[in-house]
Amino acid sequence: MRFRDKVVVITGGGSGIGAATARRFHQLGAIVVIADRSEERGTNFAAELGAGRAHYRCVDVADWAQVEGLIQDVHATFGGLDILVNNAGIGSLATTADIVIEEWQRVIDVDLNGVFYGCRAALPIMRAQGHGVIVNTASASGLAGDYGFAAYNAAKGAVVNFTRAAAVDHAADGIRVNAVCPGPVGTAIMKSIEGIPGAVEAWQERVPMGRFAEPEEIAGVIAFLASDDASFMTGANVAVDGGLTAH
Ligand code: NAD
Repeated sequence: MRFRDKVVVITGGGSGIGAATARRFHQLGAIVVIADRSEERGTNFAAELGAGRAHYRCVDVADWAQVEGLIQDVHATFGGLDILVNNAGIGSLATTADIVIEEWQRVIDVDLNGVFYGCRAALPIMRAQGHGVIVNTASASGLAGDYGFAAYNAAKGAVVNFTRAAAVDHAADGIRVNAVCPGPVGTAIMKSIEGIPGAVEAWQERVPMGRFAEPEEIAGVIAFLASDDASFMTGANVAVDGGLTAH
């Protein structure tokens, strides 16, 4: 019950890493708000977790007004906001020469601006409370370049450095901001590479541990970063990648 009665918002909480994270916080006693653009997935998942301590809110994180509304609603409804996990994200498969401009803009809107909007909406509330924790889901793809991931690499690289900036800005307010940088995880987002012959095997070979992560292996690190065990950690980008970025 490490997070008993803590109010936790998880964007992209309806699937993959976000769902595993919501489940983890729920098991540890938190009041969990699953914020996702997929209404069906989010509603069903909140009902599955149940017991009145899991709630669904519809949001497109690329829309500032929606994100601000979400955070204000959570604050008003639950009387606080202890932990925000900015996790919603989309993939993109295109090289720099070929990417369609609209796709570039959408990836930046969701994967970078969505993280900023979450922080921008939550930080004034956390500052007024005198405490708060934010964990962003960046990526190992924010620490190096991958073939055919130009927009994703750009967005996640920016999340890595934005996490440092937000941490420095608000350390004196009693707020910690960290990020996880997962390597490949077996979720819906990775389905996009399954159609490319040899791509899954090539990714597995790049990982020294020789496999994709399970979403729960990322959720555990997110929960750690949100917990008091990480009380002296802020501005860190923690690789959870089976050694991918270690070589
Ligand atoms: P996923 O597709 O299973 O889950 C993503 C969730 O985000 C979905 O529920 C989706 O509906 C939601 N979402 C997408 N766009 C949204 C928007 N605009 N507003 C609100 N919700 C939105 O994928 P996942 O692998 O669990 O991805 C979670 C995060 O982890 C993403 O930020 C992703 O970039 C990151 N990540 C994933 C991997 C991987 O290999 N799967 C690796 C590194 C980082």
